[in-house]
Amino acid sequence: MKPAQRPMELSIRLAKYMLMQKLKGRKRFPMVTMLEPLEMCNLSCVGCGRIREYKSVMSKMMPVEEALAAVEESGAPIVSIAGGEPTIHPQIADIINELVRRKYFVYCCSNGLLMERVMQKVKPSKYFCWVVHMDGLEEKHDESVDRQGVYKKAKAAIQKALDTGYRVCTNTTIFRGSDVEDLRELFRTMTEMGVEGCMVSPGFDYEAVSDREQFLLRSESEEVFKKILDPKRSEGIRFYNNPLYLNFLRGEREYQCTAWSNPTYTVMGWRMPCYPLADEHVGKVSEVMKGEVWERYGVGKDPRCANCMMHCGFESATIFGAITSPKDWITLIKSGAISKSGITAS
Ligand code: SF4
Ligand code: SF4
Repeated sequence: MKPAQRPMELSIRLAKYMLMQKLKGRKRFPMVTMLEPLEMCNLSCVGCGRIREYKSVMSKMMPVEEALAAVEESGAPIVSIAGGEPTIHPQIADIINELVRRKYFVYCCSNGLLMERVMQKVKPSKYFCWVVHMDGLEEKHDESVDRQGVYKKAKAAIQKALDTGYRVCTNTTIFRGSDVEDLRELFRTMTEMGVEGCMVSPGFDYEAVSDREQFLLRSESEEVFKKILDPKRSEGIRFYNNPLYLNFLRGEREYQCTAWSNPTYTVMGWRMPCYPLADEHVGKVSEVMKGEVWERYGVGKDPRCANCMMHCGFESATIFGAITSPKDWITLIKSGAISKSGITAS
């Protein structure tokens, strides 16, 4: 099946937005708003930090007006809705429809179980894309999400979304013990179904998760990604992440994290400092942008950052890095990848 194309307007809008921020002299600014309108989920994945960190506010649902105000406050042209499972939120369609009406590019991360319910209320649009969590083929995925039958339901939801005309991507988290062959087969299957692309990222070592053994060290992640992304063996697979980030995952490039560009708004406020770490929650997005915060966080600064390679911190870093490197900028433009700035959740 012919895949939906990432809209050209997205790349143009993001490039224009970045230029405007630079002209305004802003050193740090949001590129993607990570919006978590709830933390509740209908699954209990073994590597999920959110459902463990936010136990005390599990039933809290963010009002529509609050969600929209957070997106406006951030000002980033891309919004990634995660959580928790966004499709459980009773007003998720209202949030998506209003953001689409305001021409934000909205990515809604889902485990696929309740997508059809939302499809009845949200029309396909170039401004809206599903991002479905897939951690392997049937056996591996069901093991990862700790429930049988989820792979089949998620795959059926992807098919239905594609048939209905939605843009669809997948998002895969890599853990210690992830089966490289199984993952390649998953990516091939998804590509053949017609998804726009498969996103990959190593899992983050969440302190709230009891089995910390499943999370990879940085050197281990690089070894696994060298295998997964081996060009000779991944031919025909459409990855969504930009080529510079894929090089970074293979250990071929080094970056400092720019997670301030993906500020995360939750039912408790803005996570500080970043999507993976929540040392505190603050009331204003501008607090996440402060230079003094980033003197404390990032590789070589906080020990918890040592093994982090997540797209929220480093895919955006590849874009900012490319601004000062014409060669890298050309690589991004050629691959149509300027818009891939770390839009997904875990
Ligand atoms: S990883 Fe996603 S699908 Fe799994 S429990 Fe967490 S929020 Fe739910
Ligand atoms: S490296 Fe960046 S994104 Fe990763 S945990 Fe540290 S501050 Fe957060």
